[in-house]
Amino acid sequence: MIQLFRKPGFPFKFVYSDDYWIVDLGEHVFPVEKYRLIYEGLLRMGARKDDFLLPLQPSEEDLLLVHTSKYLKKLKSGALSHSAILTLELPFSLELIEFALRFVGGSILVAERALEDGLAVHIGGGFHHSFPDHGEGFCVLNDVAVSLEKMKHEGKIHKAMVVDCDLHQGNGNAFIFSKKDYAFTFSIHQMDIYPAQKPSSSVDVGLWSGDGDEKYLEELRKNFPRLYEKFQPDLVFYLAGADPYEKDQLGNLRLTLEGLKERDRIVIEEARKLHLPVAVLFAGGYAFDVKDTVSIHLNTIKVAQKAQRKYP
Ligand SMILES: [Zn+2]
Repeated sequence: MIQLFRKPGFPFKFVYSDDYWIVDLGEHVFPVEKYRLIYEGLLRMGARKDDFLLPLQPSEEDLLLVHTSKYLKKLKSGALSHSAILTLELPFSLELIEFALRFVGGSILVAERALEDGLAVHIGGGFHHSFPDHGEGFCVLNDVAVSLEKMKHEGKIHKAMVVDCDLHQGNGNAFIFSKKDYAFTFSIHQMDIYPAQKPSSSVDVGLWSGDGDEKYLEELRKNFPRLYEKFQPDLVFYLAGADPYEKDQLGNLRLTLEGLKERDRIVIEEARKLHLPVAVLFAGGYAFDVKDTVSIHLNTIKVAQKAQRKYP
């Protein structure tokens, strides 16, 4: 008897849109092409077209859960001041707003899927430097905050935890969630780089240039699974930034590829072991070679695949 074997599929869905990489940022350090390259990498890893879910545009009502109407009006009319564009550190265009809106829609969808399936991956999102009334550090709109606020308002969650392992401190999230008891924010980041002002997260772990795998993982293990057990969130948003990597252009935390995989394993597996739903978002990543950034994100997906099979 002939049996046809196929690669085992992914035990979760991906949220992705081709619109994630259509914006033209010119010679910018932000590699929008990473989104397309990750998508193509996943197809090579055996993902099928129906493993990818297309995000919808968020409604004005959704955005107003976090952002001020004044800021939204300015964005939509293209009336950002020169200094606001400098703070944003991105070339401003109407496509840029579309780009930011798509990711908000994506982070709403990834939260809904994570709650249904236990785990879901957003091939994007994690714009944690955006504030209610302004954008900064490449982050126009705060997809993390809009999504969690929406889940909370719709009664889909009572408590949420943001585990932010991007190189940069999650200042926008820290600011927004500091007034919200339902959300616990954890950020592990490099201290001596952007953002200069670091509003307090629920827990901040500040590391220094050159700290490397050992110190990073030791700090992470001190906090997880302990914080999961203590706070017992209904949903974990994991911001799996690729920028703590040793060959990143913007920082110097010097994590190796193996160190980053172990980081992912601790955050994702310890959550799944406790049956906590996890939404993975990719946040930053500025390796000298974009292929490294893509490999780091694909490795996160491989770690998630293993964790989800082990603790479905
Ligand atoms: Zn970053």
